[in-house]
Amino acid sequence: MQTLESYVVGRWHAGTGAPALLKNPTTGADVAACDTGGVDFAAVARHGREVGGPALRALTFAERGGRLKALSAALHEHREELIELATVNGGNTRGDAKFDIDGATGTLAAYAHVSKSLGDRPYLLDGAGTQLGRTRRFWGQHVYVPRRGVAVHVNAFNFPAWGTFEKAACAWLAGVPVISKPATATALVAWRCAQITVESGLLPEGALQFVCGSTGDLLEHLGAQDALAFTGSARTGEWMRGHANLVKHNVRVNIEADSINAAVLAPDVDAESDTYGLFLANVALDVTQKAGQKCTAARRVFVPAERLQEVLADLASEIGRATLGDPAERGVRLGPVAHEAQLADVRAGMARLSEVADVHMGGPAPVRDGCFVAPTLFVARDARAPVLHELEVFGPAATVIPYSGAAPEAAELVNLGGGGLVTSVYSNDADWTETFVLEVAPWHGRVWIGSDRMAEQSLPPGMVLPGMIHGGPGRAGGGEELGAERGLAFYMQRVALQGFQGLIESRFGKRPAE
Ligand code: NAP
Repeated sequence: MQTLESYVVGRWHAGTGAPALLKNPTTGADVAACDTGGVDFAAVARHGREVGGPALRALTFAERGGRLKALSAALHEHREELIELATVNGGNTRGDAKFDIDGATGTLAAYAHVSKSLGDRPYLLDGAGTQLGRTRRFWGQHVYVPRRGVAVHVNAFNFPAWGTFEKAACAWLAGVPVISKPATATALVAWRCAQITVESGLLPEGALQFVCGSTGDLLEHLGAQDALAFTGSARTGEWMRGHANLVKHNVRVNIEADSINAAVLAPDVDAESDTYGLFLANVALDVTQKAGQKCTAARRVFVPAERLQEVLADLASEIGRATLGDPAERGVRLGPVAHEAQLADVRAGMARLSEVADVHMGGPAPVRDGCFVAPTLFVARDARAPVLHELEVFGPAATVIPYSGAAPEAAELVNLGGGGLVTSVYSNDADWTETFVLEVAPWHGRVWIGSDRMAEQSLPPGMVLPGMIHGGPGRAGGGEELGAERGLAFYMQRVALQGFQGLIESRFGKRPAE
């Protein structure tokens, strides 16, 4: 069996402890093993700070962007191989695997593009300068400079490629070295990506260290200039946020956690419209893509009560089009969930939902050997039952919840989720939409507005785009990533410079060309 090594302190390291096993969720076969026993995590953090950091900071933004672009191309060359690994270790269909891998290369390329507008000075301006004294002589300017620490990235199992590089692209472009840790159960793709990255020689030594398995005592060695960006369950996120060493040193922590996302159909949308077609297609995509294991997937689908039966029938027919089966077979659109523990979790979650909702299609019963779950639609009996708004079933399932059709009620129900990554709304009524959006906006990182006017060009709400922020308040973790240049701020220190205008502007302010 293949052993997945970690890349730390300039070399590949095979663990010396008891290895964790990675499996094929379709067949149950062992795929690989990994372990980080024997890794000196204090040395790993030091190596990033002392070797990777200075080397990255010696490059301009544009030079770092150039490396990102070349890395995107290097990974893309291995696209077919990576797709195969994602099928074997993650149960991804070809489409699911492409979503992850192309997401990684696309985000690297997008940040390469962002770099072109960042100038060639070792800092970024934050807004315009401002007069502080009686005259312009005493002047102020906010700038961002790269922090001198390491960025520890801990990722979830569902996006081993995209998760790794959407975080790393921002840190590297900001000039900060990365220690990246994928979720163990699906680490194969991330490991191969790390290997390609190291072998490409595109990044300076120390810019990427890769931890395949437990992070040991790494968090104990983080300090005031370091950052931790985590994606995963709310439970692990809560533990990390409260970690004594991180609290003591005010280590920057960004949490992307689970979210009970919503899709809302407004009462004005008629069955013949493009908007209705978009609604059906997007909800069905969220249930079936990556077997529903997308942090942005709509878990609650709000439908005007008088349309309930019609919408249920249409949704079931749309979802039913996705063939479930061996993800390696062409034409299969719904593979297994990623691993055994995940399967048990999904089944337990469905059982809890069954206490407050009826099964309209699918359900938790086994459909075939392996980690397969039937695509499932629940119908809520009580729109306010807490479990609907608090439990994320991270699999191919959603609950349809009838409501009156009033925008304030829809918003109130959506907000019972306690903070989400994305809410999608489908309406051609601008007044209804405005009322709804302004009520849900404080509780969400992203609000996606579907209508006839954009249907033809739209990308689905489940897709995270590098130019827009990703994250959300409350139970979504309270974090924020991406958003073009905004994504760099987490890795940089904003500092207010105050002094003589001539000095501030010439050395730290407007660029000479401006
Ligand atoms: P998880 O069990 O919380 O694990 C997430 C990551 O944390 C894994 O890499 C895991 O490593 C690591 N981890 C767990 N305990 C740790 C500890 N004590 N110290 C250091 N690292 C630790 O979550 P998951 O099951 O992988 O992911 C599923 C969840 O992620 C879902 O709830 C989903 O909603 C959420 N998610 C959110 C987003 C977002 O952007 N907001 C994106 C994707 C997924 P091991 O695998 O080695 O245990």
